Amino acid sequence: MKRILIAGGAGFLGSHLCERLVERGHSVTCVDNFRTGHRRNISHLLWHPRFRLIEHDIVKPLSVSASIDEIYNLACPASPPHYQRDPRYTVMVNVMGVANLIELARYKKARLLQASTSEVYGDPLNDEQSETDWGNVNCTGPRACYDEGKRCAETLLFDEWRQHDLPIKVARIFNTYGPRMQEEDGRIISNFVVQALTDQPMTVYGDGSQTRSFCYVDDLVDGLIRLMDSPASVTGPINLGNPEELTVLRVAHRVAAVLGKRAKVDFNPLPADDPRRRRPNISRAAALLGWKPTTSLDAGLTKTIAYFRKLLAPVNAHEALPLDNVVSMGAARAASA
Ligand code: NAD
Ligand code: UDP
Repeated sequence: MKRILIAGGAGFLGSHLCERLVERGHSVTCVDNFRTGHRRNISHLLWHPRFRLIEHDIVKPLSVSASIDEIYNLACPASPPHYQRDPRYTVMVNVMGVANLIELARYKKARLLQASTSEVYGDPLNDEQSETDWGNVNCTGPRACYDEGKRCAETLLFDEWRQHDLPIKVARIFNTYGPRMQEEDGRIISNFVVQALTDQPMTVYGDGSQTRSFCYVDDLVDGLIRLMDSPASVTGPINLGNPEELTVLRVAHRVAAVLGKRAKVDFNPLPADDPRRRRPNISRAAALLGWKPTTSLDAGLTKTIAYFRKLLAPVNAHEALPLDNVVSMGAARAASA
């Protein structure tokens, strides 16, 4: 049994990681300030004897009395509307927050895995992004708080590794989707699924010809754990993502097709600095971690749609359905009324 701390453990990816590591028999401490995460994501774990929640903002130093073997850092707003709402805070989470976790890792002699991002490549210069690419980021644009924050976080970790031999792991995560994304998150899959389920047109930004590659959350969590468990010599950065590349417009049609509906789209202005394309080269992850995603987009969308269908269902309609660990918004509202 390992003692594992997960910063950002109440978020979309973090909650799946907490769940998987508890299931594997480890002791998990989730640190979160609920800035963009949600209690319902971890409510099913709160009773578990090997799960603990610490409500804390990692921008402030963190002291934990228990031993820690591994730290996963997923704490950071990840959706563009969320991270652009308070850009200074986004920078601080990635600089001060990561510096604080480095201190904790040094003190506890723990491995530290950083959830970095494909955004370090900015608006990519190559069709396929490899870890050797240095990136093309506009450092004064509206996405810079996130992109440059994450780049600085990588810098802090690699300097710490070079100077003090801190055992680090850096995962560059490409667009990931699945249950427990927030319904008002603003990211493409949650937007399109919620819009299609509620018979609204899907909001395509620009002409929809820009591309992304979408990884299902279970595959991504598997990649993160494999990276943490890899030999100390494997520091990364390592791309984790699904190489199947699709235009945004194609995504709208796939969501509609899985729902068995005709795609209704509404074209909206393209946000500033929106990257033209994204497709990960995952040969490093395959060679060093034996990892590749196995969930098809249609299979992942089916599970994601099922989650949002329950979440959006009115209280009475869903009470007969098996709820798994999903607390519907309707039920939550009724409970707090
Ligand atoms: P999310 O917003 O759902 O989760 C982030 C979590 O971190 C939330 O629970 C939030 O409350 C918490 N948090 C934010 N600031 C914090 C702070 N200062 N102190 C403590 N907790 C804090 O986002 P996500 O999609 O789950 O992303 C998780 C991580 O993975 C992020 O670091 C993100 O940059 C990275 N990532 C995600 C994707 C993706 O497609 N989901 C892609 C690339 C990178
Ligand atoms: N997008 C869109 N409609 C939406 C949300 C996003 O067309 O409702 C586009 C967005 O412009 C980008 C892509 O989908 O080109 C992925 O956006 P997301 O915010 O999910 O992540 P990003 O990769 O931009 O960080």
